[in-house]
Amino acid sequence: MTLVPPGSTIGIVGGGQLGRMLGMAAAQLGYRIHVFAPASGPANDVASAFTEAPYDQSDRLAAFAEACDVVTYEFENVPLGALAAIAGDVPILPGLKALEIAQARHLEKAFVRDIGGRTAPFALANGEEELFAALEEVGLPAIVKTVRMGYDGKGQVRVDDQARAAEAWDAVGRRPSIVEGVVEFSHEFSILIARGHDGDARLYPPPWNVHRDGILHRSRVPAPPEIAWQALEAEALAGQVASALDYVGLLALEFFATDQGPVFNEMAPRVHNSGHWTIEGAETSQFENHIRAICGLPLGSTALTGARAEMENLIGDEAAAWPELLAEPGARLHLYGKDEARPGRKMGHVTRVSQ
Ligand code: AMP
Repeated sequence: MTLVPPGSTIGIVGGGQLGRMLGMAAAQLGYRIHVFAPASGPANDVASAFTEAPYDQSDRLAAFAEACDVVTYEFENVPLGALAAIAGDVPILPGLKALEIAQARHLEKAFVRDIGGRTAPFALANGEEELFAALEEVGLPAIVKTVRMGYDGKGQVRVDDQARAAEAWDAVGRRPSIVEGVVEFSHEFSILIARGHDGDARLYPPPWNVHRDGILHRSRVPAPPEIAWQALEAEALAGQVASALDYVGLLALEFFATDQGPVFNEMAPRVHNSGHWTIEGAETSQFENHIRAICGLPLGSTALTGARAEMENLIGDEAAAWPELLAEPGARLHLYGKDEARPGRKMGHVTRVSQ
């Protein structure tokens, strides 16, 4: 891969807060940012160019590709075909194989299982009859999750009783889904790995993640000892996944800590909410390392800057507490500039690093 030196233009597909923080890290290294998104959002506020168009509008995408030296994405549900159409014109990193696998829950689980990772039992259901069969196969209780476009606990429903299967099928919008066994876990954690085009890979200390209503509430490093030993196995697996995908950029894998060891849940081929603490809590943030990786620059240290760091998401009207958070010594506030504080919407986050 050729070096994309500072001064070049990085294209970001997707317009949310991940794109905004990637853009800020890129700007620090002297890059220009061109955002492509269907609507104005947090990312284009910090970009020097913005294409506002649907993801599949081929003429606008072609012009965007022409204007950029490298393209990345901050949202994994971009239609694959849209990016494939410009892949011959501009390097797209992480590559499309990672995107294709991470877009579908059954593909990512099968991929990780084939590499040797542990997953919950799962079965694919493309229709209502298949859902009944999948529930029989996996056993109850189970969780039905749409194969595509699920995030923050959306598009999923728990089933405790086979008689409620039809209801579950309606609840997921009668869309292709996977049925997954309920995992008994003590903690949730993630592995954040940055990998360069030369295969150099750096792991961040794995955060312990606590969810509320299916949405990440808090990430904390270092993780408690119950996670630390499980994380070693998960880290080895993450390294194998990244190599198998010939991955370039920041990759996040989410796990459950269980009595049997780490159980893989899902992956994201992009920077991740459980890595926001790295802006102040690590020597090089996940955003900067993603930019470094896709531009062919050497990766930076992932070591902690303090003894511990904690990130708390500000969801909905929690962001209204900004005056108190600004007044709190050591609290570092990030607001994403979103107009409307709807319930469940990620409006910002706060990071606390202690020495
Ligand atoms: P996901 O969209 O797959 O990340 O799921 C959102 C959250 O639901 C996870 O972070 C877990 O807290 C919970 N969850 C998802 N899948 C399972 C499972 N198979 N067993 C137990 N809890 C789960």
